[in-house]
Order: sequence, then structure tokens, then C-alpha cells
Amino acid sequence: MNQRIHTHVSGYPRIGERRELKKATEAYWRGESSRDDLLTVGRELRAAHWKKQADAGIDLVACNDFSFYDQMLDFSCLVGNVPPRFGWEGESVDLDTRFLMARGTGDEATGEACGTCQPEALACEMTKWFDTNYHYLVPEFHEGTRFRLADDKVFAEFEEARDQGFRAKPVLPGPITYLTLGKTQEATDPDFDRFSLLPQLVEVYGEILRRLQGLGAKWVQIDEPVFALDLDDRQRDAIVDAWAALGRAAPGLSLLVASYFGPLRENLPLFLSLPAQGFHLDAVRAPEEVTTVARSLPDDRVLSLGAVDGRNIWKNDLEASLGILRDVAEEIGSDRLWVSASCSLQHVPVTLAKESRLDPELRSWLAFADEKLTEISLLAELVSGEIPDDVLAENRGAIRSRRESTRIHRSEVAERLAGVTPADARRHSPFEQRKVAQRAKLHLPEFPTTTIGSLPQTPEVRAARARWKKGRLETAAYEGFLEEVIRNCVALQEEIGIDMPVHGEFERNDMVEYFGEQLDGFAFTSNGWVQSYGSRYVKPPIIFGDVSRPEPMTVRWSRFAQKLTTLPMKGMLTGPVTILQWSFVRDDQPREVTTRQIALAIRDEVNDLEAAGIAAIQIDEPAIREGLPLRRADWEGYLSWAVESFRLSSSGVRDETQVHTHMCYSEFNDIIGAIADMDADVITIETSRSHMELLEAFVDFRYPNEIGPGVYDIHSPRVPTVEEMEALIRKAEAVIPRDQLWVNPDCGLKTRSWKEVTPALRNLVEAARNLRASKPVAKG
Ligand code: GLN
Ligand code: ZN
Repeated sequence: MNQRIHTHVSGYPRIGERRELKKATEAYWRGESSRDDLLTVGRELRAAHWKKQADAGIDLVACNDFSFYDQMLDFSCLVGNVPPRFGWEGESVDLDTRFLMARGTGDEATGEACGTCQPEALACEMTKWFDTNYHYLVPEFHEGTRFRLADDKVFAEFEEARDQGFRAKPVLPGPITYLTLGKTQEATDPDFDRFSLLPQLVEVYGEILRRLQGLGAKWVQIDEPVFALDLDDRQRDAIVDAWAALGRAAPGLSLLVASYFGPLRENLPLFLSLPAQGFHLDAVRAPEEVTTVARSLPDDRVLSLGAVDGRNIWKNDLEASLGILRDVAEEIGSDRLWVSASCSLQHVPVTLAKESRLDPELRSWLAFADEKLTEISLLAELVSGEIPDDVLAENRGAIRSRRESTRIHRSEVAERLAGVTPADARRHSPFEQRKVAQRAKLHLPEFPTTTIGSLPQTPEVRAARARWKKGRLETAAYEGFLEEVIRNCVALQEEIGIDMPVHGEFERNDMVEYFGEQLDGFAFTSNGWVQSYGSRYVKPPIIFGDVSRPEPMTVRWSRFAQKLTTLPMKGMLTGPVTILQWSFVRDDQPREVTTRQIALAIRDEVNDLEAAGIAAIQIDEPAIREGLPLRRADWEGYLSWAVESFRLSSSGVRDETQVHTHMCYSEFNDIIGAIADMDADVITIETSRSHMELLEAFVDFRYPNEIGPGVYDIHSPRVPTVEEMEALIRKAEAVIPRDQLWVNPDCGLKTRSWKEVTPALRNLVEAARNLRASKPVAKG
């Protein structure tokens, strides 16, 4: 009947099936391999990835999606945007300058403290790519920024693909996305308008497009995911100007403009007005817009539907996708319809082929990047009627088994959730009253000192855990080892004079994985790595079913630690929103339902800790802020269930039990009301690097409960002095009354060494003692 519709992808994971890219880059950084060795690995990976795509039946393979570090960094290099501090003057940006921009001259171990913390030094800043857990390097713009063609990676990769016989489509970030996602020097350059750089930027785009065309490219994909954001007038004008220029730049070359990660909403008409030959829509995140877009598609233009989820690991419901695709084919003609993944596949693991340890039924519900390639191509064939629908039988079976499986749907979990009342998400008494009960119970001095939970994970700790996991160390011996480490660290904290010690989290490898492994409804892959940034990859848990907690998870360690001291030991848990945010989440129920289920499981743990005699319990929620939806209009809905979930997890305890929470940042200005609604008795945040500037939020909004603004920058090996830490708290005292203040580091200490941590904590305790002896700062 119809001709087969066209297939393409926007990007494929570059890390390799066995994390070859990480190994090769790190070996190069350590000086153990040459530049040529590294380049060879890159070339081999690209060739293998193109072959996989083509073999799976993808017509246009992606190119320029490969990177030794990050695609935004690559783009900055392509247009010669290297910040002046790197002293780059050459013709083209070499590999080492690229790595310097990415990593600075800083310490290797930085940035591993937690999911949201970042290395710093002079490196370019990193931030999360939209609402993914991938971090890109933030481009920097200033008055003097000059763009020029300064790298040939994109050309070289196109030629490489072409010479190997692949039809390749180079992918570039679009001009408005690039400018929007960068940062400007607001302090020194407040009037600078980044969009004033647009004319020279689009000129370089023009050069790039013409050169690609000269090399034989037929299509170039320009990613403008900013269409999923709220756009202001300046951005809209810039889009019109930039695209007018792009549309003229290389007559005869076809441009595919791609939007993804969310619906277009009011940006839809602008999107479809762009002078592009093709439009890509995220049909997973915006299924409701497919029909409108198809109907409004300008004549002779192509519509690419991202029908396969590039953000999650579930098998596509082919029959459902097929329904949508057939309707669109009918509307616009199958020659104008392309099918793809919703976004680059870099956000999912490479292949299921290596997951032999996953339960077969669960495995039958999943699709990683390689399986998604097959889904895309299968969809194209099915739409065109090239293969009979009965190939769908297997897919239909998997979809049905997932819909009905009792391993996923557990009535006791649903019933419990249905029985939750608003009172369950409320502490018994308001904070003012709880404060009195807690003070009577805890006997803490003014400016109490504590830490964020983890203490140095020394090579011995990591080695013992690795041996135990591999079965080379007996559980009894491993637990004995942990007890010894805890005993030492509790004694040390007592000796230093920490008022609220912690057990140190030595038993944990990762703050989400540790809990996921003990909860029902979670599964773990052996090899499901996804790039977080540079050579750092994560293996997110898969939340596949209803969540519950079969047994206590941390009580054993907290109770053990509490028995060692008369000081109040702080219990340490990860909160429901963070567990959700750092996992692959089921797509068959709203995220908020899954979060509430996790919240109830954590609540059980909180209650058990209390029953075991733990008087202070911290529930970490570093991911609350990054879970904010891309559109402002959706914030309130999210914050309301996120806050409620936290409260559900923390409200089962008596007034005198002190609930703490921790967040790895303090950009609260826009969400401070929600943070206060969480009603934690104490919140600890990161403030030392910004010199407490971020406490501004607290000037206008009087935060009602207690707060520990971090005074020790844990990203740096430096030991802060007593005076510095004292001065920071004095600054905080100018905006927050002293009887609300705690003294603590910015974040967990697991990546630091005892050699730094011991003196730093001694200084911190001394700073707190000096503060206690000082006169209160007059409020200014
Ligand atoms: N309790 C955790 C730790 O100390 C918190 C880490 C985080 O905030 N990401 O490591
Ligand atoms: Zn933190």
C-alpha cells in the first residue's frame, strides 16, 4: 500500500556497551594512553553505533551526537566560544582545551559527593539538561564574545559516516537553545543582552550548514528544545530572526527543527512557522498535540513523530503508537511522515542484551536504546503495511502482562494509599510546640553542630563492600567491619565535640540505590549505565511496580551507632522525591502516585527509627528543586504533591522527634514557600561557596523553622579556618535569628578524606563555640 515511512534518530548513547568511552577518557586523563588511542576508541564507537542504527533499519543515522565529554561543550568549541580564562588562542579548539573547559584544573574526586553537586575550580559550570539527569557545560556569553568557526568535529564525523556508507544527519543545538542555556555575567554586565550576539552566531551557523551541504549532507537536525519552555518576547523575536537567517543560509539543504521534552502549547504556531523542511515533535510528552500539528503542518513539510520514549526504558505499546501514526499518515500522506524516538537515546541505557540477570518477565517489559531502534523501524514497517500486524502478538503480550501482572499491581499497596488522610501528612503539633518538646529531649546547645550524613568512604570501606557484594567477604565479617568503622567515627565525632553525630553511611554505595535495593517494586540492571556528565555514568534503579518496604532498612546501623553514645544520633534516609527523580519511573501511573507509595515506605522506616530510640531523623531531598516542571504553570501542581510526599514520609513521629532535611543548593527564592511547607524541623543547605548570598530568600520570607546554612565547602580539599566559618554564620545571623541556626558542612563528606575532614570539623566546632560566646548580631 503506502511507501515505507522514513526512520531516523536524534542521537544514540555514546558511552559504549561496556563503558568503553569512560575507560578510554579516564586512561587518557591519567596519562596512561595517548591522544591517538583515545581518538581510535571514539572512531570505533561511532562506527559501531552507526552500524547498529543502520542494521536496525534506521534510514538516517545521527551524527555529531558523539562527544568525548558533552555536546554543548562541543558546540561552544565549534563556534569558538572558549571563555578567555582558558587562554585559548589557536586556530581550532584542541581536545585538551576542551577537557580543560570541562574539568578545570580542579581535584579529580570533586563532584561525586552527590547527584546535584558539581566540580568547580575554573571549569565551566555544569547544569542539568532540561528535566533530565544529564549535565551539559554551560556556555558563557559577554559583551566581547565573538563567534567563529573553530572546530571541525562535526564535519569530520559526517565524512566518517559518509565514507563508511551511512546516510547521516548531523545534529546541532539550535541558536536560541544555545543562547538561552548559557550564562551571562549579571553582576558585572547587568545590561548585556545575550541575544545581541545572535547576528554573528547565525552567520557561523550559515558557514557550518553550507560546509555540511558541500560534504553531501541532505538533512541537518537543529534542536530547539526551548520550545518546551515558557518563552518571553525577546526569545520569540530572536527565534524569528535567527531562523529567517538559517532558512536562507544553505538553499537546497533541508533542516529538521526538533522540539522535545514537553508540549509546545502556545509556542506551537511559532514552531510551525519556522522556515524548516521538517518538524520533530515529542509525541510521548505531547500526544495531545499530534493531531493539531499534523493538521497545521505547512505544505510539503515533513513531520517527524517521536513515538518511542527516549527518556524511559519501557517497551513501546506498538499498537497504540501505530494508531497515532496511521492517523497522521492519513492526514499528511506517508511520504511526509517520519518516525523516531522522542529525543536523543542518550538518556537510556545501551542494550538489554547484556541483562541476563534481570528477571525474564520484567525484561520482557523493557526496551533500551538498541531495542528502541528496532521499535522505530518496526513501527515504520507496520504503518506502511509492509509486514502483517501479527508480528505485534509478542508486543501485545508483553504490554498485557505488564498491565495485569500481580508483581506490579499489589492491592495492599493501593489500599494503603487509598486510606491516607490529610492528617497523615501533618505533624501532631505546629513547629513552635514541637520545638519545645525537642529542646527538652535533645539538650542541644545554641548553634548546634552536625554533619550531612556521609563521612569519608575510604578505599578500605569501598573495598570491603565490593568484596562482600561479590561474595568474597562473609556477611558477618562485613558487618563486623562496618561496626568497627562506625565505632571509630562515633568516637571521633564525640572527641571533636559534634553535638549531633551521624553513623557515617559507610554501608551505602549510593543514596538511592541503597534504599531501592531494599524496597519492593524496584529492579536493578547489571549494565544499565547512562551518562550523567563527562565520564561519570549512573545506573538508575527501575521502579517497575507498587512500592513497599518489607523490612527495616537502616535501623540496624542507627541503633548500633546510638548505643555507642549518649549524644543524639541522627538517622539518615533518602526522601521520596529524590528516590523518584533519580530512577527510571513507571509510566503506567502518575509520578505522584509512585512518589506517595515511596513516601509511605519511608514513613515506615522513620517510625521504626523513632521506635528504636533515634531522636533525630534526616530525610534528604536534594532533588526537589530539579524536579520542577519545565513550565511555570505546572510548578504548583508538582510542588504540592512533592511537599505532601515529604510530609507523608515524616509525619508519623511524635513531636519530640526532630525531622531534618537536606538540599544541595540554596536557590530557594522561587520555591521558599514550598520548602517551608515541608515543615522539617531543621533544614541544611549549601551556602558556603556563595558566601551566604543565597540566603537572600530569607530576608523577605521569614523561614519559620531551624536551618543550617553550610559553612564548609565540601567540594574543595581545603580546610576552612575557624574565622571563615564563624564569619559565614555571622552573616547568616544578620537574616536569621540565632536560635534558629545550626552549624554544619554544605553536603555529605563521603568523597573527602579524613585528613581534611578531621581538622575541618574541629574548626567547625570551634567556630560554633566562639559563636555561642559572642553577642548576637544586630539585625540589619
Ligand atoms: N546524606 C547524604 C550524604 O551525606 C546527602 C547527600 C546529598 O545531599 N546528595 O552524603
Ligand atoms: Zn547535599
